[in-house]
Amino acid sequence: MLPRVDGPEHDRTDAPAVRLRGHHLLCILTYVGRGYSPAFVAAMDAVVERIRTGAPVRIVDGPDDICAAHVAEAPDAHCHGDSAAERDRRAVHDVAGLMGLGGEGAIRLTADRLDAARELFRTGRSRSACRGCSWADLCTSIAADGFAGARLAPADAGEGA
Ligand code: SF4
Repeated sequence: MLPRVDGPEHDRTDAPAVRLRGHHLLCILTYVGRGYSPAFVAAMDAVVERIRTGAPVRIVDGPDDICAAHVAEAPDAHCHGDSAAERDRRAVHDVAGLMGLGGEGAIRLTADRLDAARELFRTGRSRSACRGCSWADLCTSIAADGFAGARLAPADAGEGA
């Protein structure tokens, strides 16, 4: 597990932390409103909006705030599986340290941190978690297009879909 990072980037508000599994650190970057089910999309919308408006994030093991509705609909969903857990491990290895996530602390995904994460993603340096994912081509094309259309798009990209 990565060490906790203390410093001015830590969120000081009372907003409850978003519980996020490791590989969803990547998925939130390219999310354009598509997902496994309407419930999953609604949960993703809610999580991205919370992050966009400054809620802190805490990395968790296993199903998170995005998975919750999907797991409720489909108890045997892949969210509990080994492949999802392996994606989490890879994503944490590749990107969580850079974003200051890990340990017991919750932290806000500042614009600088998100920009750094997008650059790692765009250049393929954080994509080991994406191997074999059915959304990989879509995510690659969104990144190549400057993340335009992503709900968590950078300020100079296009509007979210
Ligand atoms: S390819 Fe899959 S794991 Fe990677 S960011 Fe896209 S949806 Fe997430």
